[in-house]
Amino acid sequence: LNKVDWPAIRRDFPLLAQKPYNKPLAYLDNAATTQKPNSVIDSIAHFYRFDNANVHRGIYQLSERATATFEAARDKIQCFLNARLREEIIFVRGATEAINLVAQSYARPRFKSGDEILISAIEHHSNIVPWQMVCKQTGAQLKVIPINDNGEIMLDSYQALLSEKTKIVAITHLSNALGSIAPVQRMITMAHARGIPVLLDGAQAAPHLRINLQALDCEFYTFSSHKIYGPTGVGVLYGKKSYLDAMEPYQGGGEMISRVSFESSDYNGLPYKFEAGTPNIAGVVGLAAALDYINTIGLDNICQREQQLLDYATKALEQTAGLRIIGQAKHKASIISFVLDSAHPHDISTILDQQGVAIRAGHHCAMPVMTRFNVPATARASFSFYNNESDIEQLVQSLRLVNKIFTIKNG
Ligand code: PMP
Repeated sequence: LNKVDWPAIRRDFPLLAQKPYNKPLAYLDNAATTQKPNSVIDSIAHFYRFDNANVHRGIYQLSERATATFEAARDKIQCFLNARLREEIIFVRGATEAINLVAQSYARPRFKSGDEILISAIEHHSNIVPWQMVCKQTGAQLKVIPINDNGEIMLDSYQALLSEKTKIVAITHLSNALGSIAPVQRMITMAHARGIPVLLDGAQAAPHLRINLQALDCEFYTFSSHKIYGPTGVGVLYGKKSYLDAMEPYQGGGEMISRVSFESSDYNGLPYKFEAGTPNIAGVVGLAAALDYINTIGLDNICQREQQLLDYATKALEQTAGLRIIGQAKHKASIISFVLDSAHPHDISTILDQQGVAIRAGHHCAMPVMTRFNVPATARASFSFYNNESDIEQLVQSLRLVNKIFTIKNG
């Protein structure tokens, strides 16, 4: 591990210098979206200033340069994920679109009544609803692996739910609601023992954990650029070549064809078969710059720093009167969900906002998790390597203020 100048890293993110209500900004909603470093912002501006043209089309220098930049980004992502082949990397709008693509292109034409789709009780809505749609379309059934009181997937129940009826396992690598890291390697091995493909929703995992797809060996993996310091509106679907080759595209248009007539069309090869229309070229350029930025710091340094912040925050929050952390998984990253006896999460968030602290309050697009823990909502603080101990102190002091205000109000 290298020594990293974390205060200098923080200064790479211009937005963090803001002073809402004249207080330092403690941005602790990184699970919703991350702030962008100058290098990412500059890369997008540079692209539009000097390199902008449509890709894969023009036979002129500018278009060839845009195409080369765009395709170099694909190589970068392949390398970042340690995928075997560059054509296994498909550009989409985000994790949500990636999961819908697999649901519609892989599952819908193959699944039938009596088949089962296995997800976990800790999923984001974007890894629930696309599968419910497939169930409606095909007659397949959705099965849910339960979680224990710590917010961990119960592996014995998972084992019992796997059967010859199971046609896909789709689970989140890292829960956005509780921060639990799923035991994905074991779960993939268990599914593969029965020949079942696995999709991992890596929307939260990609910014915080090193992903090695060749070691994991899952069939599909997804993440969103905006949660990993890149721009919004772009994301990645990884799929094993043998799977992607066998799948029909679910969107038609330009780029994804090799020949079109009014009678029929032939589809392009991978990865273009799944990239209908003009892609988010500048978004992809920004994502590549974000991965460069992360690689310069080093993912091992990032993991270590974020674990320090998580431990620091967990200890500090545990000492706050009336505070209960929801989800105490043994393997956790960067997210703390909590409730306070004195106030509703929305009131907490409003008061914290006035203290310059940005956290999330609500169901975090994971309503079934709230039901499981019998709470209407939680407050959620989520950390990035650019956060520091002062952000956490500001959070804790502000929570004390919430306790004070609401105790007086209720007393
Ligand atoms: N899965 C998880 C675990 C998430 O946290 C999110 C975003 N909150 C998504 C999927 C969806 O990502 P996006 O909205 O970028 O498509």
